[in-house]
Amino acid sequence: MRFMVIANPRAGRGRGSKIIPVVREFLASWGLPFDIRVTEGPGEATRYAHEAALSGYDVVVAAGGDGTVNEVANGIMGKGTILGVIPCGTGNDFALSLGISKDPVRACRTLVAGCVARLDIGRVLDRYFVSSVGVGFDGTVAKEANRSIPVLRGAAVYVLALLKVLLTYAAPRMRIRLDHKSISLDAQLVAITNAPTYGGGMRIAPEAIMDDGMFEVCIMERMGSLETLYHLPKVFKGTHVRLPKVKMYRAKEIWIESDRTVPLHMDGEVTEASALHFEIRNQALPVIIGRRDRLARQAPYAAPTAGDDALGRQGISVGLASFGKVEGR
Ligand SMILES: [Mg+2]
Repeated sequence: MRFMVIANPRAGRGRGSKIIPVVREFLASWGLPFDIRVTEGPGEATRYAHEAALSGYDVVVAAGGDGTVNEVANGIMGKGTILGVIPCGTGNDFALSLGISKDPVRACRTLVAGCVARLDIGRVLDRYFVSSVGVGFDGTVAKEANRSIPVLRGAAVYVLALLKVLLTYAAPRMRIRLDHKSISLDAQLVAITNAPTYGGGMRIAPEAIMDDGMFEVCIMERMGSLETLYHLPKVFKGTHVRLPKVKMYRAKEIWIESDRTVPLHMDGEVTEASALHFEIRNQALPVIIGRRDRLARQAPYAAPTAGDDALGRQGISVGLASFGKVEGR
């Protein structure tokens, strides 16, 4: 089992750089073969992850926020390589949805003693996404949140961004097709999610299941600023789903056409588009998750015997001798 850790030192406004020595010390103390590569700019995590997958690393670990996880996932998709996560970003919704701790030592422990689950992954605009895509209002909020607000972290960044966007946002007209169902509306937001939370813990799709082959879709009709502001706290609890202007759907394939170009975020990274086509790849990404997570029903990956190809990957058991030691501790 060889690990490649891809660390984003700017994640979490600098928290990423502080966890690198912690991760190095932990993995060295377990006697595991590993390498660490530090990214300097956008796109590098995808390139490094791709190179690692081609060089035969068994696990590629994204040490960063959801943006880093997204990049690493895009680099390893289709290679059979396992994704690991050490969350240290501004938004860590993917990791927190999977029982992976924000504490770097605990996250490292999950890497060596967690389980591998095969999770769904979404595809849109020729990219994969692991957690969610927010179109419209929340895309605009993410665009605002990505600007530097040095003293704030986590959900506070998003809330401040949201208050700014509230004052200026105008809902676009959208035509949405969810598998065989078509809807037209002035949409405040459309969130297409794999993970139940986004934006640093907002429970946008509380019923989302990450390996069921279906997107969870939250569609909110146009709302005024005061109305949005009033209902906002409900998104943190997930009770917004009961509002008359909110509808939840499940679908495998989604098309969205907007009457104008709208900002959207993909795992927190902002772009914009007026036409979108989403597809889900069921259980296409093996990920190391917390042993106590509800998706952890597959065998712990320390357990496969030689020749076991349960993960669909030749050579998964290479170097498992060292895992006997791991299990024994
Ligand atoms: Mg799902």
